[in-house]
Amino acid sequence: MPPPALIDIGINLSHDSYDRDRAEVIARAQNAGVVAMVVTGSTVADSARAIALCREWPGLLRATVGVHPHHAAGFQAADCAELAGLYADPMTVAAGECGLDYYRNYSPPTEQRRALALQLQLAVEHGLPVFLHQREAHADLMAMLREHPPLLTRAVLHCFTGDAAELDDCLEAGLAIGVTGWICDERRGQALRAVVGRIPDNRLMLETDGPYLLPRTLQPKPAHRRNEPMYLPVILESVATYRDQQAEQLAAMTTANARRFFGLTL
Ligand SMILES: [Zn+2]
Repeated sequence: MPPPALIDIGINLSHDSYDRDRAEVIARAQNAGVVAMVVTGSTVADSARAIALCREWPGLLRATVGVHPHHAAGFQAADCAELAGLYADPMTVAAGECGLDYYRNYSPPTEQRRALALQLQLAVEHGLPVFLHQREAHADLMAMLREHPPLLTRAVLHCFTGDAAELDDCLEAGLAIGVTGWICDERRGQALRAVVGRIPDNRLMLETDGPYLLPRTLQPKPAHRRNEPMYLPVILESVATYRDQQAEQLAAMTTANARRFFGLTL
């Protein structure tokens, strides 16, 4: 039986760690059942690279276009025209990755909020769903999202790592939730394992966030630390276990959710 069809909704495929063997990474993903991938854009230039990759693999890849909170410093209203130009590309399926990250604070929080406000406004104007990043900034992110009610049901919080109260708040607001291999971490993933079953079937999607977050349950453990989309079935297995669902059923639901959320025809 072929592996179940899966969609990786968060893969940083433009990352330079894939430069030497990107075609092989993509081939391995396809062999593992990955039928589509949403390539994460994290700056204006990186988003353009993500779109360029989509043109190389148009039957498999789509892109998000955005400025990650780590890179928010210096993002100005004047940069929005360039972003809007990329939004208009037929390969673009969401605004993002955008959001708030007060854990690392690579950009000052005020700059992060300014960049996010600009992008949320732009996403509304262009009718795009949003791909969100949040760490230790739950309250601020939710407050800013609630200023744009139409976005609440068109937003996915990727790589969810929060607690039950945060998850319930997100769900009540209407958000969809992306789960990564964080759930495969026997220490850091405990909280996520405990709450992943609260996510309704129709609001859950799967992602590797490669090259980051190599699933720690991989057997045998690879010699390298680089994550890649062929490991998405490992994440599916973990999520299915902690939701007490059949993997095949969960695969079908999360794949349908990703197609609907991003409007994918892949
Ligand atoms: Zn992120």
